[in-house]
Amino acid sequence: MIVAFLGAPYAGKGTYAKMISEKHDIPTVSMGQLLRDLSKENSELAMEIKSYIDKGILIPDEKMLEILENELKKEKYSKNVILDGYPRTLSQAVMEEGKIDLEVVILFTTSMETIIDRGAGRRTCKDCERIYHVKNIPPKKEGICDVCGGKLYQRDDETPKAIKNRLEIFEKNIGPIVKYYERKGILKRINSDPPYEEINKIIKPLEMAIGLR
Ligand code: AMP
Repeated sequence: MIVAFLGAPYAGKGTYAKMISEKHDIPTVSMGQLLRDLSKENSELAMEIKSYIDKGILIPDEKMLEILENELKKEKYSKNVILDGYPRTLSQAVMEEGKIDLEVVILFTTSMETIIDRGAGRRTCKDCERIYHVKNIPPKKEGICDVCGGKLYQRDDETPKAIKNRLEIFEKNIGPIVKYYERKGILKRINSDPPYEEINKIIKPLEMAIGLR
């Protein structure tokens, strides 16, 4: 089964993808992380990817699909996979039909207030990219990743102003993607406003939507 998680920055899709992945042993492809890993290789493609990421613009749709299709050929993705961060444009959605064939598309919906709060408090591990929140998901030892011991940092684009900007870009692109998958009848909405202490209010409906309960 191939599931895509869509949502505004800080809607929590990366966190829920990790939780579902660990609980149900379903591998996740995080597009941002995959691209950052590829950009560190020694190749022409790596240089090209890096130049897009550094400018903060999206990788062209055809190239993106090619990269994703290649990744999905790996044996570990042969049964189930969660895509975190794909599709991000309508044409990526249209182009995946007949190639990747998403079966369920989850849209995480969250209020602006929650997004700003989560964004400003987020910390990310420099090494494994695991995500924490200073209040909601603190690491056991301040500033240090529980899993790999890497240093936690705050991304430059995590100020309230930058978050609002990224949100505007997201809002512009997401409407047509949502309509597209609604028409196909595979879009499911999950309210991801509940705080971390009430995570089951998100995880249970999410598992049901994916067919894991
Ligand atoms: P993220 O970590 O999700 O913010 O992604 C980091 C960067 O990777 C983005 O700024 C884009 O340059 C690139 N990227 C991630 N996902 C996609 C996608 N679906 N299509 C094109 N570019 C992407």
